[in-house]
Amino acid sequence: MKSIELLSGDQMPILGLGTWKMPPAEAYESVKLAIRNGYRHIDCAWIYQNESSVGRAIKELLETGEVSREELWITSKLWNDRHHPDHVCDALKGSLSDLRLDYVDLYLIHWPVAHEYGVPRAESGSQMLSLDEVPLTDTWSAMLTCVESGLCRNAGVSNFNQPKLQKLIDVTGQTPACNQVECHPYLQQKDLLDYCHDHQIAFTAYSPLGSGDRPELMRKDGDPNLFSDPLLQAMAEQHQVSVAQVMLAWAIHRDTAPIPKSSHPERQQENLASLDLVLSEADLETLSSLDQNYRYNDGAYWAIPGSPYTVTDLWNH
Ligand code: NAP
Repeated sequence: MKSIELLSGDQMPILGLGTWKMPPAEAYESVKLAIRNGYRHIDCAWIYQNESSVGRAIKELLETGEVSREELWITSKLWNDRHHPDHVCDALKGSLSDLRLDYVDLYLIHWPVAHEYGVPRAESGSQMLSLDEVPLTDTWSAMLTCVESGLCRNAGVSNFNQPKLQKLIDVTGQTPACNQVECHPYLQQKDLLDYCHDHQIAFTAYSPLGSGDRPELMRKDGDPNLFSDPLLQAMAEQHQVSVAQVMLAWAIHRDTAPIPKSSHPERQQENLASLDLVLSEADLETLSSLDQNYRYNDGAYWAIPGSPYTVTDLWNH
């Protein structure tokens, strides 16, 4: 499979399987099936509450020899209540124990947002900590110690904008290996992508199909639906492929790493087959005209009353 080279020289397979919203039993079946069908990159996170099932699937396939650890790329993420440097490596050790692995290939700061220790989901603003109280640069330095101690091969971030990335680099002198952010034809992130490519920061595209199964909390009236976009439908028809395949082929063409989630074997295979789809210059022009700067996952739930975070700060400052 085509891959993206990280600053360390490691190669991250360009298409991965997302695991958010998979209940544990489904995660076990889906991950096992995906690896059997050729997926080599699995995107996990502590907060998805299914790493133990993912780990069980991986362990079984490693034991039968159907895949080797070196062939797999496993990403996990640090949750918001473990940002304090004292908790970062222990949080990763917890994920490694659930995943039944000695190391992950990539460990990311999940959000540039901190909660009190032991509060996975803040219900009031007072349970959230500001970035002055727990600076991202301190969390980032602790992530780097996890690389040094071999718990992860690469460290990176997620949901970071350009100023936050630049601050990490300026203060610590160490560039994140990857930035994982929402990206699809309605949120093309062109400036952020150019910045990441200029700095050799791998760009992973989450919700590359528009996250149709996102929870109610993240739905807004009038959310557009990528699958009913007439231009995407026409392009899919012209190539005799699906709309999902057009979106994934576009992401791959831009050297971003899409990580579509699917619990259905036929869709997993369909998504994998997008690697073979070649889009024309005219297709690419049409696709670039679709940008609406539209976020399905805008982080508004971090901006609850009394919180030190606002949606504007999250994406713009
Ligand atoms: P997504 O991958 O854009 O969309 C998932 C939805 O699309 C599911 O409802 C899935 O249904 C459906 N689907 C998948 N393949 C399809 C196909 N070929 N045709 C039609 N429908 C299809 O959404 P996502 O889960 O939000 O994002 C992907 C992954 O990114 C997550 O799972 C997670 O690993 C990661 N992520 C990270 C962050 C972050 O903060 N870093 C945030 C969000 C997501 P079925 O499962 O029923 O097939």
